[in-house]
Amino acid sequence: MNTQNPKLRWPAPKSTGVSLTFDVDAEAGFLGESPTFARRLTSLSEGRFGVTRGVPRILELLRRHKIPATFFVPGYTAEQHPHLVEMLLREGHEIGHHGHMHLRSDKVSAEQQADEMYQGLEALARAGAPKPVGYRSSSWELTPETFELVLANGFIYDSSCMGDDRPYFETWNGASILELPVHWSLDDYPMFGWGIDNGGNFTAPRALFDSWLAEYESARRDGRHTSFTMHPEVIGRAARFEQLERFVERMVGDGDVWFARLDDVARQVAPQLELLK
Ligand SMILES: [Zn+2]
Repeated sequence: MNTQNPKLRWPAPKSTGVSLTFDVDAEAGFLGESPTFARRLTSLSEGRFGVTRGVPRILELLRRHKIPATFFVPGYTAEQHPHLVEMLLREGHEIGHHGHMHLRSDKVSAEQQADEMYQGLEALARAGAPKPVGYRSSSWELTPETFELVLANGFIYDSSCMGDDRPYFETWNGASILELPVHWSLDDYPMFGWGIDNGGNFTAPRALFDSWLAEYESARRDGRHTSFTMHPEVIGRAARFEQLERFVERMVGDGDVWFARLDDVARQVAPQLELLK
């Protein structure tokens, strides 16, 4: 494959692609880290904030600019918040698979990884979601066992790896899947995530606008596609959210950005990448 700089085409007249993606970890983000969070009501409430306040802010912004987005929803989140999936679907967004209890694949057995896959699929189906075609591993740690589960369950893309800054095929043990890559610098959590046990960062909200604008401008010059990753409980805090609003308004103002759900990006790029193989 020409890995130097494959020039991917976006639907004319758009010249670059951007996907806004949201991982609705909510309470599962804590419970997947440790079951001891089951009695830590304050932590659970911080996760819940993502659904009660973060998601409505996000949906209003996306509606205002007619931007379709991808939401990765752990099965447990769908169970705890029965109207979430329906609300996201009604607004035209994609629901992707993000485990069930948000267990990190590299920290649990192969059997537990399989449970994460199947319980997540079942919970999303019960909540009324179509069978997801996109997968994102919890905390972006993909293992060989989960990679095989993703392939076995007919997903058309993964969004957990960082092997390129444009769509590519992630390969393991002779098998491959279309990868719509991510990166820590394009994630709100390293900038703003903080926990009482391990600390973290309270970066000034303006840093989000500056660093993501730099990435976007570089991608636009290059005609690249970029995925930005956010967590409603993190980005949904009002002062940070205002910076996201500024960033989105800036990109919309340029007029040549194709804002797309990741499943639509996958369908756009897969045939082009096949030709480059
Ligand atoms: Zn997550």
